Amino acid sequence: MGTTMIRGMLWAVAAALLATAPARAQSPLADAHIHYSHDAWEMLPPAEAIKVLRQAGLKKAFVSSSSDQGTQMLHAQAPDLIVPVLRPYRRRGETGTWFRDASVGDMVADLLAKNTYAGIGEFHLFGKDAELPVPRRIVQLAAKYGIFLHAHSDADAVERIFAQNPEARVLWAHSGFEPPEAVAVMLRKYKHLWSDLAFRSEHASDGKVDPAWRKVFMEFPDRFMLGTDTYVPERWYYVVEQAAWSRRWLADLPREVGENIAYRNAEALANWALKTDASACASGQTMAKDGYRLSYRFEPAAIQVGQPFAMQIAVCAPDDQPFTGEVRVGAAMPAHGHGMNYKPTVQQTAEGRFHAQGLMLHMRGHWQFNFELLTETGIVRLGADHRQK
Ligand SMILES: [Zn+2]
Repeated sequence: MGTTMIRGMLWAVAAALLATAPARAQSPLADAHIHYSHDAWEMLPPAEAIKVLRQAGLKKAFVSSSSDQGTQMLHAQAPDLIVPVLRPYRRRGETGTWFRDASVGDMVADLLAKNTYAGIGEFHLFGKDAELPVPRRIVQLAAKYGIFLHAHSDADAVERIFAQNPEARVLWAHSGFEPPEAVAVMLRKYKHLWSDLAFRSEHASDGKVDPAWRKVFMEFPDRFMLGTDTYVPERWYYVVEQAAWSRRWLADLPREVGENIAYRNAEALANWALKTDASACASGQTMAKDGYRLSYRFEPAAIQVGQPFAMQIAVCAPDDQPFTGEVRVGAAMPAHGHGMNYKPTVQQTAEGRFHAQGLMLHMRGHWQFNFELLTETGIVRLGADHRQK
């Protein structure tokens, strides 16, 4: 019997157990360290993977995958839940070679231009390898797009990243596997350093937080996040269990601190990276009316007749105020007097960011995309011509 088959059976058993568990209100969590890499896709198809993340009561999951296709598949299923992070690996086994591989830098640059990401990582980088041209390029790309770096690194490599760009935002995977005192030294030194607790367990046992870790959590309540690290497909079995375990020890902290680590810190970092700003509203197809600016891009980039597609939308309110309203999208063929055959759904993914799904142009010819911005004072309507070949 193949390993995949055994995995599949194990999964079926786990899923059956989960299905019988009573649904109850769970306190929200964010998991900052999820991978959905190629060898998990068959065992756990995208819809099933999303079910697991929802079952764990996650409101946000930072997902990075080898290859990035895994992240895109999950994001397409649940844009409200998945925070896409761009892993610089095409397949398993590139953790020790990517930083000397110029094609990785090109791939990352291409994907950043095409899709929206909150960060680049998780990548593995140690010591003075951080000075090599490819990692340097990654640090620059993160700065260009205003997104964070998720670094599985020793303290030395983290310091070298900050030396290249003191304004970088770094999420330190596994808190560097350092003891709490050493993590505190780094957090004290770098105010844009966050630390995930993925694949660590010594900070709590039996629902009690370890005293040395408690001290660090209390000193830096805004800097820690949870993580499961599904680095091999089997780790997906632990996502729900890990969430339950985390809820127990988080309850041992003052409420505010516990909630910060549970989800607020991750949400704040994702919002910082994904927020709309002048550059988000100026990339892709853009339009403006009454001081509102909207930009959109298609997923996939070139849409085909009769094929469903999605749309990434960024909205900026007048005078660079955040846009807090809702967005509706439609498309019509003015010459034919008809619209699309399907009604798209729009979900908010971050402040001023939206993801529209279920769009399809069933004919070639002249279409018009219609956007409605539901603001506090009324509806702002914007239209864009599109010629479908
Ligand atoms: Zn990882």
